[in-house]
Amino acid sequence: MQESDMIDHRRLGRELDLFVSDPLAGAGLPIWLPAGAAARHAVEEYVRELERRSGHQHVYSPPLGKRELFDISGHLGYFADDMFPPMRLSADDEFVLRPALCPHHALVFRARGRSYRELPLRIAELGGMYRSERSGVLGGLSRVRAISLNDAHTFCAPEQVGGEVVEILRLIRAVHAALGVRPAGFRLSLRGPGEKYVGDDAQWARAEDLLRGALAGVEYVEAPGEAAFYGPKIDIQIVDAAGRESTISTIQLDFDKPERFDLSYTDSDGSRRRPVMVHRSLVGSMERLFAYLIEVHEGAFPAWYAPVQLVLLPVDDGQAAAAADLARRAVDAGLRVEVDVAGSLGARIRDAARRRVPYLGVLGAREAADGRLALRLRGGRSLDPMPADAALALIGGQVAARAAELLPAG
Ligand SMILES: [Zn+2]
Repeated sequence: MQESDMIDHRRLGRELDLFVSDPLAGAGLPIWLPAGAAARHAVEEYVRELERRSGHQHVYSPPLGKRELFDISGHLGYFADDMFPPMRLSADDEFVLRPALCPHHALVFRARGRSYRELPLRIAELGGMYRSERSGVLGGLSRVRAISLNDAHTFCAPEQVGGEVVEILRLIRAVHAALGVRPAGFRLSLRGPGEKYVGDDAQWARAEDLLRGALAGVEYVEAPGEAAFYGPKIDIQIVDAAGRESTISTIQLDFDKPERFDLSYTDSDGSRRRPVMVHRSLVGSMERLFAYLIEVHEGAFPAWYAPVQLVLLPVDDGQAAAAADLARRAVDAGLRVEVDVAGSLGARIRDAARRRVPYLGVLGAREAADGRLALRLRGGRSLDPMPADAALALIGGQVAARAAELLPAG
């Protein structure tokens, strides 16, 4: 109990000024403070670039939509318990806060005629969505009511599904490695008993076969009753500091929404065909991801997404101008940097250590005079003074490589 308390992301989130939960804002509606927002921004940029390189196209869509959109998608029929009640503007004008992005992305596909040449069409968005979680289960970032989801939907020909799932698994492994996510296991989430599922048995059997095929060679468990209401899925699980398991990455097959939205494309022979929709999230929501990352790294993020990467510490007033000048160059080089002049050098070093800042740059009279910087690494190791530009290049290199370590290998 005490151990898990030590690395509770809520406590670290407060100490490191990452986010705040204010009762006036509402339970499950945390606010990201500048430090948390800086870390999240770095992660979002990385994920967006990875998606761009792997053929995704990004869109923006609104976090609420007309009631009919979610009637058609099946969410109001199968998922209403998890949604906020509709908002009525007038008798024929009702809106709902969306519980998922898929309906809007189906409209992106439908925005014009589609050809087989465009497939697989990968539509990605980091989008807002809402779940009406009961207040008793909410806590910090791990269970929230306003969710920022890393999401994408691939519209593909049925014969492309297997290859697409394999490629998504490759992307998920790459993101986990860069962020320091250590998955607890893979899960094949299947239908359970009951009526909360759409589609016919043949569709479900086909989708399950495709996912089993993609998981060949991967160790996984089967979880009946954990499927989405529209199809089976591969879930990649994590365990938090308190031992609770949750899903961080997911790949879901859906033959149902393309029917509901009457999606089609023109095949090479001129015939109309129905695409398959693959829902996938590489890292889940930003909220749950950061709840996990804060705990797994105990607040000491890899330098590339540390809120502040370098704190410059002039030993006394004589080096203040040199420190300000160097900070300017570090900012221009793309780094997140601060200059700390308040208090004794020892107190400033302790404060930076408390904030888990990866690099400290100490500027004494001698360093300032000959343009050098003495770097101290998080954890206490000191490097010999080096030319300031070389120090910035060292940090910039580790950040650009999204390295887990603070020094280059070798
Ligand atoms: Zn979806």
